[in-house]
Amino acid sequence: MSTTILSDLDIFSDPRVTDAKAAGDGYIVSENPATGEAIAAVKLQSRANYDTAVEKAMRVQTQWRMLPAPKRGEIVRQIGNAFREHEQTLGELVTLEMGKIKAEGVGEIVECIDIADFAVGLSRQLYGLTMHSERPQHRMYEQWHPMGTIGIITAFNFPAAVWAWNAMVAAVCGNAMIWKPSLMTPLTAIAMTNIVHDVMQKQDVFRPSGCDPRDVFGLVIGTDGEVGEPMINDRRLPLISATGSCRMGRVVGQAVAGRLGRTLLELGGNNAIIVMPDADMELTVRGVLFGAVGTAGQRCTSTRRLFCHSSVVDDVVTRLRAAYKSVPIGDPLESGTLMGPLISADAVQQMTAALQTAQQQGCEILCGGVNGIARFADAGGHFVEPTIVRVPKGSDPDIAREETFAPILYVFEFDDLDAAMRQHNAVSQGLSSAIFTDSVRSAERFLSHGGSDCGIANVNIGTSGAEIGGAFGGEKDTGGGRESGSDSWKSYMRRQTCTINWGNDLPLAQGIEFG
Ligand code: NAD
Repeated sequence: MSTTILSDLDIFSDPRVTDAKAAGDGYIVSENPATGEAIAAVKLQSRANYDTAVEKAMRVQTQWRMLPAPKRGEIVRQIGNAFREHEQTLGELVTLEMGKIKAEGVGEIVECIDIADFAVGLSRQLYGLTMHSERPQHRMYEQWHPMGTIGIITAFNFPAAVWAWNAMVAAVCGNAMIWKPSLMTPLTAIAMTNIVHDVMQKQDVFRPSGCDPRDVFGLVIGTDGEVGEPMINDRRLPLISATGSCRMGRVVGQAVAGRLGRTLLELGGNNAIIVMPDADMELTVRGVLFGAVGTAGQRCTSTRRLFCHSSVVDDVVTRLRAAYKSVPIGDPLESGTLMGPLISADAVQQMTAALQTAQQQGCEILCGGVNGIARFADAGGHFVEPTIVRVPKGSDPDIAREETFAPILYVFEFDDLDAAMRQHNAVSQGLSSAIFTDSVRSAERFLSHGGSDCGIANVNIGTSGAEIGGAFGGEKDTGGGRESGSDSWKSYMRRQTCTINWGNDLPLAQGIEFG
């Protein structure tokens, strides 16, 4: 199966990919998390390769930025269509390499297509404002210029879409870019880049002199030491867009701030759903199930905490336990599977440790748990059972404040919405949140200033599965970045305020007389 996907995408002809068995030092082996088997080995690039890629990207960017934005949009339209052509195969590759079920793997490529479409429209809407000048015969306006060449660092769990959110928008904005993907998902990065390069090579409207048009979309696969660290410290890159853990965000944020560069940080979440007594229980259970179990709990927006009103907590838990039991776990490429493996043995170990700590902190495991993990000990892949953990009423264990990247759902009980919201907000992350209620008052309280402190707040929808049209991102330790839709494009451009004097006099602002 794996070979078919790879050959369909012509990955083996890429010099960066070789046979896993032949790999030695200087290679990273991409593994299938459902079997633990090697898929292929990828040559690691060095700091020198990184430097060359940046130089090439910077050179081509000086010509890319001169192409009118709608013409750049036309090229991005072709890129979106190329993704469409390969939608199923790319989706399967995401599944093979990352382990999310095929419907979600394909869904990720649909997101790439959606953001390409969005960027095409955006290419004609990079609007600036005009202002009335306080001075006679003066005109003021703002315009937006490309930032230059930017760095994109991505996490393993959305190996295609996170890059596409950045790349499609950054491209219409006139930037070139260098992508440093997670070393756990290099094949997806190579496949996406090959498809884009194929489109770039065929361009008639963009034939940069002395440059390769493919260099607009650079890819460098290397370790954090050889590529990641040089990238974040590189003054040639005015913007680093980095997606990953809060730990990584702290390092990246400080390094880039140290050189007064700009960051767009999309970091970890600890997302919660509040369930009110008047909630539609069917909707609630479906929303929680997808949020907590979907992608095996490996979305930044996965539901990790559930606050249930005391009058419904037992009912919710009973329904959820039944739903959890019926989740088919297995090969994510098989239709019918709803939960695939975790990404690595290390991730399984982290889930085990979190569950042991939860028990030490007084919590009760209602289903799944360490026994559920042990059930898969000989399965080959990194499988676990989705787990519900009941938190004793009135307590707030430290472990539930951390993001464990696994399908663990901590269930809390509350009597009063204000108290639930306080506890909801009392974590360091601030990405996604939701309330299930049929009461307009409860919904509006949740959405008001004193309600959710997250970047995403939903009513009667779970915490995960955002559409590309909105600005995506979160507050506090989630990093404050916004990418994808709305006006997130502004992060990829620099604003210039222009004042033009078309008169014969030189009046100064604020009425200052000088000389
Ligand atoms: P990670 O932090 O381990 O790695 C993310 C990326 O950062 C990788 O490419 C890694 O190589 C790179 N990196 C790490 N240290 C670096 C350094 N010092 N310099 C340069 N690059 C460095 O995260 P992960 O395990 O791949 O992904 C899971 C995490 O990502 C979770 O915390 C999840 O919530 C988060 N995430 C957030 C979003 C979002 O939009 N908020 C989306 C997806 C994933």
